[in-house]
Amino acid sequence: MKNQSRRSFLLGLATFLGVAATWSGLFGSLVQSSLAAPAKGKDVPLPAGETEVTTADVVANAIGYNPDSTKVDVKSNPTFKKGQDCSSCALYTKTNESWGKCQMIQVGLVRSHGWCRSYNKKA
Ligand code: SF4
Repeated sequence: MKNQSRRSFLLGLATFLGVAATWSGLFGSLVQSSLAAPAKGKDVPLPAGETEVTTADVVANAIGYNPDSTKVDVKSNPTFKKGQDCSSCALYTKTNESWGKCQMIQVGLVRSHGWCRSYNKKA
């Protein structure tokens, strides 16, 4: 009897851990894809031969580049104002609807709806 309840417990635990791991994997994928997902409209693919600027870029990291301006932490970025993004920044040169070149960052393209602390509204 004792062995049977122990076996039931272990079987239940293994099932629970399996379900938890599956949900964790699914949830992790959803969170990751939502971070990479565009904030506005439909994302136009990165032009052929171009690379995406990520926060791994030293300059992008230093200026606090966020590929999604709707997810900017306003507490640590008090200069951020809702509606600001790369597409309305004077340092941005549009490549297509979703991507453009930032004068601050040497390599790669930033997202049109990204934002960083060097934002400078176009005149
Ligand atoms: S400087 Fe302007 S274009 Fe460059 S990342 Fe910052 S907000 Fe975007």
